[in-house]
Amino acid sequence: MMTTKSATQKGIILKDNDEIDIMRRAGALVCRVLDHVCGLVKVGATTGELNDVAEKMISDAGAEALFKGVVNPAASYPFPAALCTSVNDEVVHGVPGDRALKDGDVVSIDCGVRIDGFCGDSARTIPVGNVSKDVQSLLTVTEESLQLAISEMKVGLMWSEIATAIQRKVEAAGMSVVREFVGHGIGQEMHEEPKVPNYHDRSQRKSDFCLEEGMTLAVEPMVTLGASDVMYADADAWVIVTKDSSFAAHFEHSIAMTANGPVILTAA
Ligand code: MG
Ligand code: MG
Repeated sequence: MMTTKSATQKGIILKDNDEIDIMRRAGALVCRVLDHVCGLVKVGATTGELNDVAEKMISDAGAEALFKGVVNPAASYPFPAALCTSVNDEVVHGVPGDRALKDGDVVSIDCGVRIDGFCGDSARTIPVGNVSKDVQSLLTVTEESLQLAISEMKVGLMWSEIATAIQRKVEAAGMSVVREFVGHGIGQEMHEEPKVPNYHDRSQRKSDFCLEEGMTLAVEPMVTLGASDVMYADADAWVIVTKDSSFAAHFEHSIAMTANGPVILTAA
């Protein structure tokens, strides 16, 4: 019998080792899906084809695709796919369809699943064919900012210290951190407390939290080559784009804080 302990902080649900083991299985499936689907990214492939492959892998594994059917009051339809596929200036929540990827594009692929009641959530941005030097640098800096965050996560540190490190790295490269969308706690639900931002300012002092053993967090820097402002691409749909049309990248891992440090759950 598993018990779910409640942390003292802000409604954050701590996980025990058995729960973290299930989350590892969910995370491993997300990793397998992303490995496979990212390998299919090429000029001419459509985002809908990538999603079809992901949906089959998830259902073959007996897992639930977390994003499918999610309702967003700002959109006129529930999210229709297992993957979010966000191309170029699309930051997050791109809807898979018949858009064919072109040379020089980037596509952010975000995948979430639930297995035996626990979730995994991870994202990567992949270049299509030959991308410009600036765009390659965007992908590198964003991925490295996630790796930096993970390497700095320690029980007892305030999240704002990690967020500041992410923000510094991104801004030192002349890029911007998206503010409207942030990471999150993850467990039995895809989105749990706390909010896990990738920047820090005074407005967040009250929502800051201390890293504790048993916390499971989705850390997901979203970075743009231009300004940080984002908006809905159109009035009734899901996709979020940069206001200045600059390219965006998104890397995400689900991570457990253990006595031995952070463990990446969405790894092989
Ligand atoms: Mg995600
Ligand atoms: Mg997430």
